[in-house]
Order: sequence, then structure tokens, then C-alpha cells
Amino acid sequence: KNADAAMYQAKSMGHNMYFVYENRMAENINAHLTLGGGLRKAIDEEEFELYYQPKIRLSDETTVGAEALIRWFHPELGMISPDNFIPLAEESGLILPLGEWVIRRACRQLQEWRELGYPPICVSVNLSGRQFMQTNLVDMVKQVLDETGVDPKYLELELTESMLMADGQQTIVKLHNFRKLGLTLSIDDFGTGYSSLAYLKKFPIQALKIDRSFIKDLGVNCDDNAIVKASIVMAHSLNLKVVAEGVEKRSQVDILKEYKCDEIQGYYFAKPMSSQDFLGYMDSHTMFYE
Ligand code: C2E
Ligand code: MG
Ligand code: MG
Ligand code: MG
Repeated sequence: KNADAAMYQAKSMGHNMYFVYENRMAENINAHLTLGGGLRKAIDEEEFELYYQPKIRLSDETTVGAEALIRWFHPELGMISPDNFIPLAEESGLILPLGEWVIRRACRQLQEWRELGYPPICVSVNLSGRQFMQTNLVDMVKQVLDETGVDPKYLELELTESMLMADGQQTIVKLHNFRKLGLTLSIDDFGTGYSSLAYLKKFPIQALKIDRSFIKDLGVNCDDNAIVKASIVMAHSLNLKVVAEGVEKRSQVDILKEYKCDEIQGYYFAKPMSSQDFLGYMDSHTMFYE
């Protein structure tokens, strides 16, 4: 629809403009097809890797967990960020095998760290919309947990508001089944999806991750301060843990501490890193183990 609108606007502005838009769209479509075509091969040839970004507890600034973030190391194009290929994987349905690979890789990683002598931390994995709709998702996750021997309490799933809003009753059943398995559930990018906390409380979730768009101007934009502060108070009154995403500055850390935010994730403390680098991180930082 946006493309149509742009095209219409371009047309009404004359032919030159029209060509500019058309060419840009053709380029996008080409990039789209090239990447999309490579995706199947990339899954077969394991061109993906999980990176890990630490989650820090604000009360004592110890690391309490990590979020697993996928990276595609394309043989010609180099590292491709998930924002550029997850939508393609969704469209083509390849998100299902890819999503399963992510969960298995994260669980194997937990076991690997354990075998190396590190006490376990909690790792969270992102789910995408189509993956969440998959009927045998809960069975698949259970199968991977059994196969890898990971204690489910160390696996967290990050969902988005739009996933929960898609299909009411079935969604709640699915979430309860995950809870029965012993997993933790959190809402990612909170604040971007038009759902209220009151609505979200219908779902058996344990944590909210405040989207980084609200954190960016913390201390500068009074509205953002108010939104973040109120979200934290409300989340706590509903017994939800709050994680702030995209924290880049000490001033943001201090404000979030004052607002009693539980955990933060962001470049200020650490960027997402390879599993190898994460070992070094665990060696040199205070880790909180249950
Ligand atoms: P997300 O789940 O909200 O992850 C947080 C994103 O913010 C990550 O981008 C992370 O690198 C970035 N980030 C963290 N701290 C900062 C900061 O201080 N400043 C800034 N500017 N950015 C920060 P990334 O890794 O590029 O991932 C983008 C999105 O792709 C994720 O957003 C998630 O929605 C999706 N994604 C990543 N991995 C997977 C996956 O395995 N499966 C699915 N379905 N989606 C994934
Ligand atoms: Mg996430
Ligand atoms: Mg997020
Ligand atoms: Mg996201």
C-alpha cells in the first residue's frame, strides 16, 4: 500500500520522479530475491550464528542472563542483520526451520557453557509471528529441551504484542503450555504495539522489555520519562519484571535505577557478541547465578 501511494504520488509529480521510484523499487525487489534465494542454502550450510547480549540487573549491576540474537554470515555480503532477513524468512516460511535452529543452538550453547564449568544463566530467544502460529511449536521446544537436557527455567521466549493479539484463545492455551513446561515468557518491544498493560495481563507473562525508542531520549524528553516511569510502576503492580532495551548512556542507567527498573540491556554495558567472546565476558564480569 505504501509503495502504491508512493507510486501514485510520483506519477502525479511527473515522469522523472516516477522512474526514480520505480528504479528504487526494482533494486529493493532484486535485493529481496537475492537474499531470499540464499536463505534456504544458508540454512543447509549453517551460515548462521547466535550472538549473545548480556542482561544486567540494576540493583547490583551483575549479569543475570543474555538474549540470543541471530546473525547471518553471507559468503559474499558479509554479516547481515536479522532485520534484513527475518521478514524474508517469515514470507517464505523458512522461519520455521530457522526458528527451530535458533532454539536448538541456544539450548546447546547453554549445555556447552555448563560443560565448560560455568553455572547456568538464563538465555532468551526471539520468536517471530509465523513461528508462534506454528501448531506444534510447544512440542518442538519440549523436544529440544529433552534432547539437550536444558532445565527449562533457563530458557526464556520473547514474544511481541502483535503475536498475542493475533488469536485470543489459542494464544492463551499456547502460553499456558509453555509455562507448564517451565519456560519464562516476556513481551519484547513493549510500547510499540498499541496494547495496554491491562490487556497484556490476560496472558501468563513474566516480564516486559521496554522498547528502545522510549529509552533513547530518556532524560531529554519529558514524555518518554513519564511513559517509562509509569510503565515500570504499572508492570510492577502486575508482578512483571521490567527490562529496558537499548541503554547507551550512564544518564539513562541512573534514571532507570531511580525508576526501579529491574534489568537493562544495551551498548552501555555490552553489545551482542559471539559465543566465544561471551566466554571472555563471563570470565571478566560479575555473573549472578541462582
Ligand atoms: P530485539 O529482539 O528487540 O533485539 C534488540 C536489538 O537491539 C538487537 O538488534 C540488538 O543488537 C539491538 N541493541 C541492543 N542494545 C542496543 C543499544 O544500546 N543501542 C542500539 N541502537 N541497539 C541495541 P539485532 O540483533 O539487529 O536484532 C534486531 C531484531 O531482529 C531483534 O530485535 C529481533 O526482533 C529480531 N531477531 C534477532 N534474532 C532473532 C531470532 O533469532 N529470531 C527471530 N524471530 N527474530 C530475531
Ligand atoms: Mg528481543
Ligand atoms: Mg526489543
Ligand atoms: Mg524486535
